[in-house]
Amino acid sequence: MKVDPSRAAALISQIKGVSERIAAVSKGRSVRLVAVSKLKPVNDIWALSRPQESGAEPQLHFGENYAQELAQKAELLPRNIQWHFIGGLQSGHCKNLAKIPNLWCVSSVDTLKKAQLLDRYRGEFIATFSSSSSSSSEESTPQKLNIHVQVNTSGEAAKSGCAPGPETVELCRAVEAAPNLHLLGLMTIGAIARSVATTPENENEDFVALREQRDLVAKELGFEQERKLELSMGMSEDFEGAIALGSDEVRVGSTIFGTRPSRADAKIKE
Ligand SMILES: *Cc1c(COP(=O)(O)O)cnc(C)c1O
Repeated sequence: MKVDPSRAAALISQIKGVSERIAAVSKGRSVRLVAVSKLKPVNDIWALSRPQESGAEPQLHFGENYAQELAQKAELLPRNIQWHFIGGLQSGHCKNLAKIPNLWCVSSVDTLKKAQLLDRYRGEFIATFSSSSSSSSEESTPQKLNIHVQVNTSGEAAKSGCAPGPETVELCRAVEAAPNLHLLGLMTIGAIARSVATTPENENEDFVALREQRDLVAKELGFEQERKLELSMGMSEDFEGAIALGSDEVRVGSTIFGTRPSRADAKIKE
């Protein structure tokens, strides 16, 4: 795949900058960096995910917002990439998403119906694999789907996510019980205004709220210390403040890839 060397160098330097900023605030805790590549070409993703000449670890976790774009990119790129679907989830997309073998996590499950669809289609997909290629190597069999339940911590009508409290607890319980899903934790986007105002001194209320929901779910579902539910919170504007409040996963796009083109101008491949 074509990679412009100066573009590759810029991307590598930008992601290194983000990783260093994460390390500076995470105090030795491991925090997953999901590089949000929506509307950016596969050439950019390849530049970061291929074996690096410097010997540095390649970036393998990438986040996408649009189901069709994700499916197309997954076809074009190697299977060792760990894809995250982080965009607004529609029921009509669950079937196609569940069939992407290296889809690693869906971070935007906000209704029971969508959880059930993902579970059913992932189950069917895993079954076709094991019946058609019983002798094939284990690595080609798709895994259970990791799930973050998205919580609408800011209460904004336009934001997706389920309501904090019983709704979040019951959705987490259903995901935990689904045979082809694995409950990884909770995700929030939060209000833009709070995000811009986030500093180490100014705690973001959305992040505090998500942490409270996580503790509530852990208590209601009877998880003890050994089963930790993670928090996916923090983007370009506010990831350091999110880590200070306990985030286990940050989703960073524009600080790595630069400003995004419009959807009409976006190219899958250069
Ligand atoms: C686009 C997006 C991001 C990344 O946003 P940046 O501000 O570019 O870092 C993170 N999370 C979600 C859910 C997104 O849609």
